Amino acid sequence: MDAESRLRRWLRPQLLQSQSYHVPDSRGLIKLDAMENPYALPDSLRERLLDALRDAPLNRYPDPQARELRELLIAQLGLADGLDLIFGNGSDELIQLLAIALAGEDRVVLAPTPGFVMYKVLAEALGMRFVGVPLGPDFSLDKSAMLEAIARHQPALVYLAYPNNPTGNLFDEQAMRDIIGAAPGLVVVDEAYSPFSARSFAGWLGQYDNLLLMRTLSKQGLAGLRLGYLLGPRAWIQELDKLRLPYNINVLTQIAARVVLEQPAELESQAREICESRQRLFAALGRLSGISVHPSDANFLLFRVPAGQGGRIFQGLLEQGILIKNLHGTPGLEDCLRVTVGTPQENASFLQALERIL
Ligand code: PMP
Repeated sequence: MDAESRLRRWLRPQLLQSQSYHVPDSRGLIKLDAMENPYALPDSLRERLLDALRDAPLNRYPDPQARELRELLIAQLGLADGLDLIFGNGSDELIQLLAIALAGEDRVVLAPTPGFVMYKVLAEALGMRFVGVPLGPDFSLDKSAMLEAIARHQPALVYLAYPNNPTGNLFDEQAMRDIIGAAPGLVVVDEAYSPFSARSFAGWLGQYDNLLLMRTLSKQGLAGLRLGYLLGPRAWIQELDKLRLPYNINVLTQIAARVVLEQPAELESQAREICESRQRLFAALGRLSGISVHPSDANFLLFRVPAGQGGRIFQGLLEQGILIKNLHGTPGLEDCLRVTVGTPQENASFLQALERIL
């Protein structure tokens, strides 16, 4: 058997048909494509971090429970009895963990679309079926379509991102309650962008036995650390923990996250600055003729350009050294681009480049 036939004989057909997640090469570019915080760590934190890392025991495996970090976070969140948390190597790993835990041929993962792509990618990678329920024209939840789809497909898992990526808006809270109440399985509210919306569903956690909350440090300024966590009823978290790789959070991440989270005010003040810049960028984009920009509660803005112009504008920005995200090919988002809020200088460069292209 030649090498190619052997590979085709043994790899799962779904894997052979899928593609690697593509991340563009951003070296040398102004990077406004991935919702990172554009600011470096403040100096005071950087110094404390360097001190803490000096004695990092890299010859040892990390604490498999990340106990110090865990205790800090549980205390900060004031997590009630009966609730628990589990860490992931970014929330991407938690989405994968959920898919592994719930996988089965006849199982469905359901989410509003357009939404975060990894819900679909990881469900399908594990052989589950993904059902996307289109958002309304203003990107609001179509509650009756969601409830109908839940009744029809009986999903093992429903994702609701709040704020939603890539649209940036918040969903109606009553609609979310109705969905959680109607879902036969788990509902994960993904709060990746909550640092910019000042709204969290943490208060709902004790109220539903099927609700989990997912968060990440990535958007707050620590994308390089890769740390996400899932909060929810201990019974669910304990089962998920059986599938977690024992050392998924490395020594450096555990130390660094602890140092930074001990002084949350530093990153919170950066988030406030980003929100102010978002409002200025929103207003400036809105003044450009041919552009319509959507209100956002996240650290990015979705905007629509004249029909058929998305590719040209994306490419033109790239030629001027600016990388954003082209959403062409995403159903419902033809002619849409997404820009992460950068520093005031980066935003100005982006706007100037865009004006030149238009
Ligand atoms: N959820 C949402 C809604 C996201 O947009 C992202 C990143 N784009 C993630 C989760 C994953 O974040 P991370 O793996 O960096 O924690």
